[in-house]
Amino acid sequence: MMRFFSGQHTIGILGGGQLGKMLLNITRQWDIRTKVMDPSDQSPCKISCNQFVQANLMDYDAVIKFGEDLDILTIEIENVNTDALLVLENQGVRVYPQAAILKIIQNKCRQKEFYIKNKIPTASYQLFESKELLKDAVARGFVSFPFVWKSESMGYDGYGVKIVRSNQDLENINEGACMAEDLVSIDKELGVIVCRSYKGETQTYPCVEMEFHPEANQVEYVLSPARISKPIAEKARKVALSVSKAFKHVGLLAVELFLTKEGEILVNEVAPRPHNSGHYSIEASYTSQF
Ligand code: ADP
Repeated sequence: MMRFFSGQHTIGILGGGQLGKMLLNITRQWDIRTKVMDPSDQSPCKISCNQFVQANLMDYDAVIKFGEDLDILTIEIENVNTDALLVLENQGVRVYPQAAILKIIQNKCRQKEFYIKNKIPTASYQLFESKELLKDAVARGFVSFPFVWKSESMGYDGYGVKIVRSNQDLENINEGACMAEDLVSIDKELGVIVCRSYKGETQTYPCVEMEFHPEANQVEYVLSPARISKPIAEKARKVALSVSKAFKHVGLLAVELFLTKEGEILVNEVAPRPHNSGHYSIEASYTSQF
């Protein structure tokens, strides 16, 4: 019998958005079987995967059911049920990025603690269980303006991040656990995408420079390579590799960095998946991030 697929394996993707759609461009070129899960019936991935499942990504039972017959399970969005992913991992499904990594990354405060524990340079911060406790700390002078408020969870494209310069700004932030981070004097926002194999081999894409839209808070321009000196680029790469080594991820890790006015490199946050700072690689690189 003729076989058109390159293997019997099926890759599952949690999330059916634009990143998944770009990934499916590659899996279709290579005839790799795919199954995608997304809550929306209108999901961009729906027409180009082999099988589509409409379900909530946070639904434990739905994720278990989706993953059980898969060989490899990946994500294109971080907000998925990680308890289910842990169970699937224990059943032998190869979950990349690993469930434990997603659990850390989903929570901005836990992510910060991970950097501190692993001696990775990052801006100083204080954690608060609630908005009330943060306000109390400000009133007592333990936190002073300006600072950057970051919500513990569900932050995306800047929605969970606000620069707080006054009591008025403080009133306008959302409720819930959060951190107050030092406002960094940013010279440039940089990014390094690290690819890591299951054996631990790593490769990096060149350090890029990201320019954000001032209001939308989303990347507007990506410049590759970044307009920085060789030593700074090498420092950024080294820091990104140290983050990769600490997480021991399999697959991609997009490391978002700040180059401060003082020439320091600080880790802002990471995404264990293809990243918008790497889309240029589709046309510019021999091997794209997908
Ligand atoms: P999101 O997860 O929503 O993308 P980020 O943590 O990446 O949020 O923050 C969004 C933007 O806010 C960053 O790209 C940067 O421009 C700014 N920002 C975040 N943290 C700081 C900080 N400590 N100091 C100065 N600017 C910051």
